Amino acid sequence: RLYNEVIELKGNIRVFCRCRPLSENEIANGTASVINFESSHDNELQVICSDTSKKQFKFDFVFKPEDNQEVVFAQTKPIVTSVMDGYNVCIFAYGQTGTGKTFTMEGTPEHRGVNYRTLDELFRISEERRGTMKYELLVSMLEVYNEKIRDLLADSSTQPTRKLEIKQAVDGTHEVPGLVEAPVYGIEDVWGMLKSGNRARSVGSTCANELSSRSHCLLRVTVMGENLLSSQRTRSHLWLVDLAGSERVGRTEVEGERLKESQFINKSLSALGDVISALASKSAHIPYRNSRLTHILQSSLGGDCKTLMIVQVSPSARDLGETLCSLNFATRVR
Ligand code: ADP
Ligand code: MG
Repeated sequence: RLYNEVIELKGNIRVFCRCRPLSENEIANGTASVINFESSHDNELQVICSDTSKKQFKFDFVFKPEDNQEVVFAQTKPIVTSVMDGYNVCIFAYGQTGTGKTFTMEGTPEHRGVNYRTLDELFRISEERRGTMKYELLVSMLEVYNEKIRDLLADSSTQPTRKLEIKQAVDGTHEVPGLVEAPVYGIEDVWGMLKSGNRARSVGSTCANELSSRSHCLLRVTVMGENLLSSQRTRSHLWLVDLAGSERVGRTEVEGERLKESQFINKSLSALGDVISALASKSAHIPYRNSRLTHILQSSLGGDCKTLMIVQVSPSARDLGETLCSLNFATRVR
């Protein structure tokens, strides 16, 4: 309750920052951490840029390296569960490859992430409200790669011939006709679905992790609600988005396919930044049409929709440049 009131007061856009721990390799190499949390204010972090220069960044919430998946979900829960009250919600994990975007969203079987915990919570709420509400949950999973949309739950034998496009429906909402919407009745259904969707992601790539860092992965939960007393029906979307890596292209890779991928990624991430910062500053024109990513999310970004950006950073001195870029991006959307 209290948290929801805070959301109303401060608007519908939240920006969190999560810093991963130094990896075993980094510790073994004696890599220094350049992120400092000993600020006099909560929810601030300090980046040590050099001996003489420090930069301070402020967020709605800052997760330290020792904060586990439970801590992250405790802060995320009020936002994601508002989909059950009829709100459209988007959550993004943003950052350089290797900073923990997939760890935060998907997690691992031992350390489950936001996606799994959210679905689990939605089923729990559905059960809890059984006397007054009837809910149906549907899951879709898609990938945006080089400005093309792929359905990760579609039958792989028909996949190559199917081309997905964004269409505006009569009620003004944006839809992807033909996108698989799989009904889910329990958390086991979801876990299986996520696994098969992830397998579909790596098609055509020799290294799954490589490709996955260059495409946006979108998990959409559609919640159909019916109030049993008033018969009022609602339909809302929750988007859980693991964005492509935000790193700038390396000097050795500025050619061919890799360059094209990077240009598409840059274009879509800056389009996302432009949309969120236009929303945050209550601009009259919101440039949704500049990328597939923002176009597909148009009905779930803005208005009374809720948006959460989790900016992921590395503590390593070697990643300082990219870390500053990510934190500056976050400052722009806040
Ligand atoms: P990204 O998706 O941003 O490329 P990953 O989620 O794949 O990054 O994370 C890179 C590595 O760091 C993985 O091995 C992951 O398990 C680990 N990692 C990331 N964040 C954390 C964290 N908060 N705690 C422990 N390990 C983490
Ligand atoms: Mg990843």
